[in-house]
Amino acid sequence: MKYDLIIVGMGPAGITAAIYAKRSGLNVLCLEKSMPGGLLNYIDNVDNFPGETNISGSDLAFKMFEQLKSLEVDYKTKTVERIIIENDLKKVIISDDEYYYTKTVIIATGRSPKKLGLENEKELYGKGISTCAICDGALYKDKVVAVVGGGNSAISEAIYLSNICEKVYIIHRRDALRADDKLVKCLDKKNNIEIIYNSNITAIDKENDRIKSITINDKNKIDIACLFTYIGFVPMTSFVNTLNILDENGYILVDCNNETNIKGIFAVGDIVKKDIYQIITSCGEGAIAAINASKYIEGE
Ligand code: NAP
Repeated sequence: MKYDLIIVGMGPAGITAAIYAKRSGLNVLCLEKSMPGGLLNYIDNVDNFPGETNISGSDLAFKMFEQLKSLEVDYKTKTVERIIIENDLKKVIISDDEYYYTKTVIIATGRSPKKLGLENEKELYGKGISTCAICDGALYKDKVVAVVGGGNSAISEAIYLSNICEKVYIIHRRDALRADDKLVKCLDKKNNIEIIYNSNITAIDKENDRIKSITINDKNKIDIACLFTYIGFVPMTSFVNTLNILDENGYILVDCNNETNIKGIFAVGDIVKKDIYQIITSCGEGAIAAINASKYIEGE
């Protein structure tokens, strides 16, 4: 079977691309390795998406996915191992025995949370280290937790946790936060959040296979029930690292049509090298790429 378009990743960018592509008559397949909606599922509140005054990220993701299903877009839960070019077609490879040919590809695989890289960290994810306050915050009701990072994610999730937990430490490596003013003002009103500036977590200590404490700047230990890490993201582009479409940090380079330097391969959303990473801009890029994929096919 040969597709007009394969979309890899079903976050807001990929789903929007699928909606536009299907409505323009393309034969589309969407591939997603886990949950439709991507990182949107982990956002507490979205209050800047037109048409939705205030909605949880997971509800918005659900609505987007419902719209995709109502258009009868073909989708599968699969992890793409590699994309290669074969003659005029793109070959999207799941395994030696499973692959799909397509005229065009839209890559929309997003980013995954960055790790601190400390001893014990990997084994303690799910045992007192988390990247999702919305998913795990309720487990730490009335307990002391810490958040590491100083960006929008760290601050908005610390605010969320302050409504559940007894106390929230924010550990930030600089002397100033980089989060938006609106969030910082909201943070200032919380009396159970303490910000520890100019500080790095240098060790994570465990007891009975769970986190016990963190060590700050090789000196002070703080006992915590959970550490929430919000220190940025790593783009999920290793499956296209032989295509020569990435920058030095692994983000995909695109032109104003969201097309890479390979004709017929587009990229959208958080895996693109750009300045603004917002749900609405990701959706816009999905629409742009789908329309240009359609034009590419017409022009063949
Ligand atoms: P981010 O803006 O990249 O911030 C990451 C934070 O982690 C920075 O404060 C950074 O410190 C710190 N950090 C990075 N590596 C670290 C390390 N190894 N150890 C300790 N700290 C480390 O990431 P983000 O906050 O997740 O935001 C990502 C994007 O999503 C942004 O564009 C953001 O605006 C957007 N976003 C928006 C909202 C919203 O409500 N509008 C909510 C969430 C996210 P430095 O400051 O020293 O670099």
